[in-house]
Amino acid sequence: MALMITKLCSACDACLSECPNQAISAGKPYVIDPNKCTECAGSFDTPQCMDMCPVKGAIVPAVPSV
Ligand code: SF4
Ligand code: SF4
Repeated sequence: MALMITKLCSACDACLSECPNQAISAGKPYVIDPNKCTECAGSFDTPQCMDMCPVKGAIVPAVPSV
């Protein structure tokens, strides 16, 4: 599973350096590469980007489109 960044992202840059897998790229909004994001499994107990993000709802679980 991976997380994704929504339009609510304020491009504050807080999450970029927190990712242990370099899965996050700058942009508006910022982007998480689903092929690199592990939800921090194996590195941390909780998703680091979500913990750092000051905007509620900017980082959410990526739900596969049906
Ligand atoms: S959950 Fe972890 S691995 Fe995934 S983008 Fe956020 S910091 Fe990177
Ligand atoms: S921490 Fe949140 S608001 Fe800031 S760049 Fe990352 S996703 Fe966007």
